[in-house]
Amino acid sequence: MVNFQYARATDVADAVRQIAADPAAKVIAGGTNLLDLMKYGVERPARLIDISRLPLKAVEETPGGGLRIGALVPNSDLAHHPLVEARYPLLASAILAGASQQLRNMATTGGNLLQRTRCLYFYDPATPCNKREPGSGCSAVDGINRTNAILGTSDACIATHPSDMCVALAALDATVHVAGPAGERAIAFADFHRLPGDTPHIDTDLAPAEIVVAVELPPKGFAANHSYLKIRDRLSYAFALVSVAAALELEGGRIKEARLALGGVAHKPWRKAEAEAALRGEAPDRAAFARAADILLRGGRGFAHNAFKIGLARRAIERALTQAAGGTPQSQSSKKIR
Ligand SMILES: Cc1cc2nc3c(=O)[nH]c(=O)nc-3n(C[C@H](O)[C@H](O)[C@H](O)COP(=O)(O)OP(=O)(O)OC[C@H]3O[C@@H](n4cnc5c(N)ncnc54)[C@H](O)[C@@H]3O)c2cc1C
Ligand code: SF4
Repeated sequence: MVNFQYARATDVADAVRQIAADPAAKVIAGGTNLLDLMKYGVERPARLIDISRLPLKAVEETPGGGLRIGALVPNSDLAHHPLVEARYPLLASAILAGASQQLRNMATTGGNLLQRTRCLYFYDPATPCNKREPGSGCSAVDGINRTNAILGTSDACIATHPSDMCVALAALDATVHVAGPAGERAIAFADFHRLPGDTPHIDTDLAPAEIVVAVELPPKGFAANHSYLKIRDRLSYAFALVSVAAALELEGGRIKEARLALGGVAHKPWRKAEAEAALRGEAPDRAAFARAADILLRGGRGFAHNAFKIGLARRAIERALTQAAGGTPQSQSSKKIR
């Protein structure tokens, strides 16, 4: 039994104050990832600061026509929110492709962003892992690495970020709002998660005493032409081997704007402006989709058990873009499958 203290935060400022005062403290929201990590002995916070009762549960329209999602909005509520179903079905689909109904009822928006990798070795304190214990080595590079990354890897770590929701948020150009001792700041979603480099123990650009307070979506939701395609070992209740968030704006039979993000392949949702630019002005056909896939996957490197992901990702990108162009998304919107 590892003892820890438990405290409730009374408001955002109090939460920030409590974390800043104790570097060994962790905030807990839905607890669906943190409690598992504590049971495995991966996380050993001396103090848990419960933020689950803070007033961060609203989904509100912004003056600019976007949506501001409080950090404590449960994943289920977000996926079934009428404005998300109508204007951001890509996000609803991605959320509903993740975990189970029970988990989504508990899991929060902020916690989903901050969930840790599912690399097998990260969860096994008996093995070396640079993410869990900096400097100890990476067991996955020469170990069982079927689910690990093929893009943006480093010698120190080949872990993936496991979230589905984050892949859609990346494609939709979301912004993360955070609060810390110096006040609030906004971080572009593309800059929020990091590549492992030689500091794989640091997942995000969040400073130690900062918490996520909201995620903001811009007005454009690509509701007509989108698809979230998730390829996994089981049909449900499994993390992505490869996932694709594809969104297109079509005009006069050509692609006016494209968004493309991959999950399950890198330490963060994987996007490349160059791949999206290559689609702009093109007819939405297989040749254009294949070219974009090539660009997005450029530099991909497989390991002993996961090289198959490169071909799988290429086919998944082409399929998701085809579905988006045809207005026939892979995952049904939350309304249809409720
Ligand atoms: C069996 C299982 C299957 C799953 N399958 C999937 C899946 O297929 N796809 C998928 O995307 N996810 C999946 N998940 C992960 C699930 O979505 C996450 O566990 C959940 O989103 C985390 O949210 P939470 O509120 O429970 O976070 P918590 O467990 O409370 O916290 C997770 C981390 O985030 C930090 N944190 C939480 N809130 C904040 C905040 N506001 N600011 C700063 N830090 C914060 C905590 O300190 C902790 O480090 C699965 C989980 C389980 C257990
Ligand atoms: S890939 Fe990253 S998380 Fe997995 S063992 Fe290596 S260092 Fe740890």
